[in-house]
Amino acid sequence: MAPFCCIVPEYVLRAIVERGVAPQNTINACHSTIEKIRQIQDARIQHGQRTESAQQQQVAEGIIPSFIHETIAQYAATAEQRETSLRTLEYNTKLRAAAGTLRHLKRTVYDAQNSWDFENPPKDKVMIEEGGVLVSEEEDPTGNANECYIGFKKTYDFYFDFFKRDSIDGRGLKLDGFVHFGKKFGNAIWDGRDLIFGDGDGIIFDGFTDELDIIAHEFTHGVVQYTNPLNYTFQSGALNESLADVFGVMVKQWAEKPEHPQTVDQANWLIGEGIWAEGINGRALRDMKNPGTAYNDRFVGKDPQPAHWDHFQTLGLSVDRGGVHINSGIPNRAFCLAANMIGGYAWEGAGPIWYKALTSGKLGENATFKEFADLTIENASEH
Ligand SMILES: [Zn+2]
Repeated sequence: MAPFCCIVPEYVLRAIVERGVAPQNTINACHSTIEKIRQIQDARIQHGQRTESAQQQQVAEGIIPSFIHETIAQYAATAEQRETSLRTLEYNTKLRAAAGTLRHLKRTVYDAQNSWDFENPPKDKVMIEEGGVLVSEEEDPTGNANECYIGFKKTYDFYFDFFKRDSIDGRGLKLDGFVHFGKKFGNAIWDGRDLIFGDGDGIIFDGFTDELDIIAHEFTHGVVQYTNPLNYTFQSGALNESLADVFGVMVKQWAEKPEHPQTVDQANWLIGEGIWAEGINGRALRDMKNPGTAYNDRFVGKDPQPAHWDHFQTLGLSVDRGGVHINSGIPNRAFCLAANMIGGYAWEGAGPIWYKALTSGKLGENATFKEFADLTIENASEH
C-alpha cells in the first residue's frame, strides 16, 4: 500500500472529540475529518496499484516505444533503416538518462470545491496551471491556491538545487494540488498521487497551505515513496514521518524568507508553526529540537512525542499506526542535534547525509531507527 500521510495525526483529532470541551461545531468537524481519513485509508488499501502505474507513466519514452525500434534494428530490410532505428534507440536512452537532471516543474492547483470525493477530486476548476498568473483575491479570498502553487515551486527548487532531484519521483512527476477539500477538513494529505489540503475549521485548525514546511512534508512523503518506500507502521513509519519533517523543516529554513535563509542555530525547528487557530495553546504541531513541547491545550491535549530512545513508546497498530507521528520525535531530534553539531545551513551539512541514507537503496521496508542511524554514520564518515 502506498503511504498515506496526514499532517494532523488521528490521535490529535480524537483527543479533541474525546475531551469534548471544544465548541460542538469543531467537534463535528474533527469527527468528519476522522471519518473521511478512515474511508480514504480503506480506499488506499484497495487501490494500492496507483503508485506503480504513476511510475510507469513517468518513464521518458517517445510515442514509438523502444521495443519497436529494437525489432526494426534487428530485422531491418536495409542498412539505412537499421541505422536510423539504432540512432533513435541511442537517443531514447540518452533521453532517459538525462530525465533525472532536467527541470520538469509542472504544477496544477485545482479547487476541490468542498468536495469529499477523494478517489476523484473534481478537476473541472483549475485555479492555476504552470506558468499561469496567480489568482485574484476575489477568486480565492483564502489565498490557498496561490500558497499551494508557490509552495510547490519552493519545494521543487529545494530538491532540484541541492539534491539534483527532478520532482517527487526524480523524473519530473507532475504536481497536482487540491485546495478547499471537504468542508472544514482539518488536514493536509499526500495520498500517494496528489497533495490535498483542507481549510481547517478556523477554531482549532487554521489553514494548511500557508505553512511551507507542511507542503514540503507532504511532498517528501512522495519522495520517500518513490525512492525507498518505508512501511508506514512502527519504526519504519516513524522514520518515514521523520524524513518528511527533516526535509520539510529544511525547505522552511531555506525558503520561507528567501532573502534570509536560516542557519541551524537561527532556526526554531518547529513543524506546522501557525497551524493552530488563535487561542490554542501551542507553538506548532511538532518541535524537532524539543519533541513533546509543541502544544498543551485543553481542547487538544498535550504533545505526546518522546525526545529520546529511552522513552520510545511501544504502541499497537491501532494507535497512530504504531506511533508513526509519536516516536518520530526521536529521529527528528537526532537530525536537529546532528545539524547543530555540523553547523551552517542544514541542507549543506546534515541534509546531504540524510538524503544519501534515504537514496542509498540500503534501507529495508521495515528499517529500524538503528539501521538508519548506522547508515548516516557511515555516510558522515565519507562526507
Ligand atoms: Zn506525514
